[in-house]
Amino acid sequence: MRDVLLVRFGEVHLKGLNRPYFLKMLVNNIKKTLEGTHASVWLSDSRIYVAGAPDMRDCAERVRRVFGVYSVSPAVEMEKELDAVCAQAARMMQGVSGTFKVLCKRSDKRFPLNSQELAVYAGEQILNANPSLSVDVHKPQTEMWIEIRDHAYLCNTELPGAGGLPMGTAGRALLLLSGGIDSPVAGYRIMRRGVNCQAVHFASPPYTSERAKQKVLELARIIGAYEYGMRVHVVPFTDIQMAIHENCDPEYTTLIMRRFMMRIADRIAKQNACQALITGESIGQVASQTMEALGCTDIMTDLPVFRPLIGHDKLEIIRIAEHIGTYETSILPYEDCCTVFTPRHPATKPKKDKAAYEETKLDADALINAALAGTETVLV
Ligand code: ATP
Ligand code: MG
Repeated sequence: MRDVLLVRFGEVHLKGLNRPYFLKMLVNNIKKTLEGTHASVWLSDSRIYVAGAPDMRDCAERVRRVFGVYSVSPAVEMEKELDAVCAQAARMMQGVSGTFKVLCKRSDKRFPLNSQELAVYAGEQILNANPSLSVDVHKPQTEMWIEIRDHAYLCNTELPGAGGLPMGTAGRALLLLSGGIDSPVAGYRIMRRGVNCQAVHFASPPYTSERAKQKVLELARIIGAYEYGMRVHVVPFTDIQMAIHENCDPEYTTLIMRRFMMRIADRIAKQNACQALITGESIGQVASQTMEALGCTDIMTDLPVFRPLIGHDKLEIIRIAEHIGTYETSILPYEDCCTVFTPRHPATKPKKDKAAYEETKLDADALINAALAGTETVLV
């Protein structure tokens, strides 16, 4: 008898002919996340198993965070001996209160009882050993699972997993990562769909500090853990901001700054084989996120721009940030380049022509090339 994890994968089931590829990626990612734990990982009968590590609880926590994992159940694997299995089920229900139900699945048809008979028999043994429990077959508080396969597997807890699709199955994108609450969440949402992400961050020293940059790298480290490390391109943005600030209509400076960000992100994405850009924008959150403003920034790139938070309220975004562990870092009070030169009255309904006209007052190409030349890439 030993402890194992039963790992269920959700959407990977839907993948038809590509299923073996998705499963292989998922198994590899689980192995990667368990490196150093001595666990072994294998696939059998549409289920992934993990066993053999001294600390299986730690393994369960790690595996839960792997994208593509729908849920994880800590389970016991044992010989298929009827009375021993029922005694073990009764032991596992000790300390559980309320109602329960036994669910059985017998893939090994040589086992003497069928699924229904086993459920009834095991249920009786559990009740005998734990008289305070009662059976509810419709809405039980606890489900005791018994599966008879190559071995017997027993579990009565199911921990929700991260969901999504296995990392690395959906291409690569570039995340515009500020130090705020939204963009790390946006990155997480897209990564969860199996997309590898790199990040670009625009920094404006000395207006933004080294600590502000370190905060962004820390955010990248937190979400980058989902893909085992993230590449962050840090772009020097001060000269561009100064030029915009000195030459352009104040109502348009924020918008023009965002258009420059898009243009530079587009270049970095293409240099790094990223097929899309990701931002943390949400309609109407600030002046630069009205539909008109988004329309003015979108046209600076021919790559798709993913805005997974576009329809989210701030409170919903905060909840996800707390869940993924970025919130505490995001609220550290360091300045962002966007907050340094904020105009008093940014245009909420900017016009594309006017934005383009304002930019003729700048040598955009030279500014962009200089920023790209000064870009530093860090692996976190
Ligand atoms: P966040 O919480 O992500 O900072 P925000 O609500 O503060 O978002 P803005 O400052 O308008 O919104 O930025 C909108 C989006 O533009 C961000 O979600 C991010 O994707 C991108 N962005 C803003 N500032 C930067 C920056 N300094 N470097 C990289 N991307 C940025
Ligand atoms: Mg911001």
